[in-house]
Amino acid sequence: MAAVDAPTSEETIALFDQYVIPNYRRYPVCLVRGAGSAIWDAEGREYLDFFPGWGCNLLGHCPPRVVDAVRDQVGRLIHVPNTWYMEAQGRFAEALSKRSFGGQSFFCNSGAEANEAAIKLARAHGATSKKYKIVTMEHGFHGRTYAALTATAQPKYHAGFEPLVPGFTYVPHNDLEAAAAAIDAETAAVLIEPIQGEGGIRLPAAGYLEGLRSLCDQRGALLILDEVQTGLGRTGKWFAYQHYNIEPDVLTCAKALAGGIAAGVMIARREIAATFKPGMHASTFGGNPIACRAGLAAIETIDQDGLLDRAGAIGARFNARLEAIRSAHPDLVREIRIKGAMIGVELSIDASKIVEMCLERRLLVNATHVNVIRLLPALTILDDQIDRGCAILAEVVAKIAG
Ligand SMILES: *Cc1c(COP(=O)(O)O)cnc(C)c1O
Repeated sequence: MAAVDAPTSEETIALFDQYVIPNYRRYPVCLVRGAGSAIWDAEGREYLDFFPGWGCNLLGHCPPRVVDAVRDQVGRLIHVPNTWYMEAQGRFAEALSKRSFGGQSFFCNSGAEANEAAIKLARAHGATSKKYKIVTMEHGFHGRTYAALTATAQPKYHAGFEPLVPGFTYVPHNDLEAAAAAIDAETAAVLIEPIQGEGGIRLPAAGYLEGLRSLCDQRGALLILDEVQTGLGRTGKWFAYQHYNIEPDVLTCAKALAGGIAAGVMIARREIAATFKPGMHASTFGGNPIACRAGLAAIETIDQDGLLDRAGAIGARFNARLEAIRSAHPDLVREIRIKGAMIGVELSIDASKIVEMCLERRLLVNATHVNVIRLLPALTILDDQIDRGCAILAEVVAKIAG
């Protein structure tokens, strides 16, 4: 509950206008407290959150085990640099390795940084055989730092920031022939999201990831999977690649990695990880004890509460509700794309109107790629909350349909 003398949303907005760089489009609401899939603003209004923390709050707002682990850790040790050993980082790396492909971890603080690390590792690994090119997919998203931005094959994010990093090649997504033409003897790596998130929840075509894997093997390129959005259980498996018949050489994860605490990781096969010698790459805050304790608590929560299976059930329930909306309004709602708790609703109109109408009804959803509503609900969401939010969506769509 907001304290009596706590600032109003309006007062906080005035502070931002004065002192915060306006590089985000923000809704005029100041959020103060959350629990699970509910969140409250400074005026005490409650919202139902279908997009908690932009996918970072995979376990909902303030998941109890994560809160307890962080509270305990800040009283012991807040930060120690990577010139020392710390138990939590070792245990977190072990937990991630055992849930993926047995690789080793480099820790950082965000998705972009994890992808920077992966791109640097791929270039360093390919250097002796003169491999430097990085192939990425159109409509992909890999972050805003320079190499991650260059890897992001969307002109709207590049505008104004040229010249970009040399050596990147873009191919259409889900087009194996185009990839085969682009991957050559100088290709160090192919970097791809197994499911495109920001690009509108685009699932891989049958055989596409498997095809990329064999192209990489044939031509001596690494396969890097950007699981910044899909990783740590979002899709119903620990990592999305586990739905397909492949393993990557390198994987990146961030967003949901540590229960909402800032954290990123690059996991690489041991032989490839060995390319990084002491001093070649670093992150001051990477793998700090708070983030690693939070990550371990997130993994424990998913394990003990059976949340990987729950992701599948959440996807199925959303699918039933959203398909009903689509069949009632087929010319407005074109397609539903779902993998676990990763949900895209493609419309024939701009989705931002729907986001605003949902906000008026205190339901938080996201619009991406112009005409796609993106939902990344918490794995702890209740059936009743799914039904309530979908009823709001149905009402909004019906209202727009007239
Ligand atoms: C969000 C995202 C990133 C960037 O992560 P940041 O933590 O914002 O740097 C990279 N890749 C994918 C797939 C993402 O969804």
